[in-house]
Amino acid sequence: MAMGDVVRDPKEFIRSEVVKKIFASKLAEGNANVTLYGCSKCDRVLFTKLHVSPVDDEFFNVERMAWMKMGQVEGTISCVECSQDIGRYQLSNTPTGRIKPLFLVHQLKVKPIVLRLGTLVT
Ligand SMILES: [Zn+2]
Repeated sequence: MAMGDVVRDPKEFIRSEVVKKIFASKLAEGNANVTLYGCSKCDRVLFTKLHVSPVDDEFFNVERMAWMKMGQVEGTISCVECSQDIGRYQLSNTPTGRIKPLFLVHQLKVKPIVLRLGTLVT
C-alpha cells in the first residue's frame, strides 16, 4: 500500500507498514491517538490529520492524495468511493509554477475517526 492509497476499514489503514512508518514519530512521542478523516457520506478513509493544515473554519488544506482525480487546472474534489463533492482543487498553471497548488476539502464533508495507536499498531 502506497501513501495516499485509500481503504475502507480504518483498522486496515492503520496496520499497514507505510502508516506505521508515518506514525512512528507520534508513537515515539507517546502520542496515543491519531485522527483519520472519512467521507461524511460513505465513511471511506480519505486522509489523515497529518495530511491536513486547516486554513479556516470551513476548509481543510489537504496534501495532494493519490486518489484525487484531476483532469483540469481546477475543479472539484470528489470522494473516490461515492463521488460526493467534498471540495475543490487548483493546480499550478504557470510555467514558473508560482501559484501553489491548493486542495481544499469542506470540513463538513468529512468526519474525524479517532483511533488509539497503541491498541492498533503492534
Ligand atoms: Zn464517499
